[in-house]
Amino acid sequence: MIPSFSFLISISLFIPLLIAAMIRVAAPLLSTSPPSISTICTASTTLPQTEQRARHIWKHADAVCFDVDSTVCENEAIDELAEYLGVGEEVATATRRAMNGASRFRDALASRLEIMRPSRAAMIEFAQRPAKLTPGISDLVTALHKRGTHVYLVSGGFRSIIEPVADVLSIPRNRIYANELIYDTHGEYLGFDENEPTSDSGSKTVGKAGVCGMLKKNHGYKNLVMIGDGATDLEAAPPADTFIGFGGNAVRASVKDGADWFVTSFETLLKSLQ
Ligand SMILES: [Mg+2]
Repeated sequence: MIPSFSFLISISLFIPLLIAAMIRVAAPLLSTSPPSISTICTASTTLPQTEQRARHIWKHADAVCFDVDSTVCENEAIDELAEYLGVGEEVATATRRAMNGASRFRDALASRLEIMRPSRAAMIEFAQRPAKLTPGISDLVTALHKRGTHVYLVSGGFRSIIEPVADVLSIPRNRIYANELIYDTHGEYLGFDENEPTSDSGSKTVGKAGVCGMLKKNHGYKNLVMIGDGATDLEAAPPADTFIGFGGNAVRASVKDGADWFVTSFETLLKSLQ
């Protein structure tokens, strides 16, 4: 039986369309390059796109900057230091104002230090108390180190208090960005080093944003993640490639709303690495 002319025309049009469709289906399966963020974002519709993007960056992170107070550690060290020095109530009020973004960070830092005026000896003694690490942080930092991710501690707190925390987590001390106190020759408090970027906030060139931008520029990090609980942490992205809000110790509404992804346990982040 000889096929009709119209049947042959139909077949000749159908076959190229079939081949094109097969190529479209097979191409992603044959590709060896990692899926793009847009591919991931269209793959699932259950999560907001900002969170899907944050999860993708987290999974491919080459650097992670952790805030310290109420993030890596359960408490606010400056409040504990104030308690230790007998001026807890006054300093707690100033800290609450700072965390809610009501005053410039540098002014709040200066006023809290002016209340405390900690001597070198007091800081050394205070730093010897065991830090209360947030559950899960040790395993998370170990996992990040194991996969070659650089881990930084970026804090508006004080270097001498953070160094023992870094030691416990095997984070090199040159990956701490925090404030330095200045003392006179007798070890009495004089002030703080205003050249430290962490001594200020409010723009992309200072504070945690300034540190993240500098790290990206100096090390060429492509997926730098900032994790923290406070307003100054949220400010760091951009230049940080994403910001993960941490609510395991304290939940601040503005941070929860502004975060690309908000978690309440480090276990969630550890599982998401795998
Ligand atoms: Mg904090």
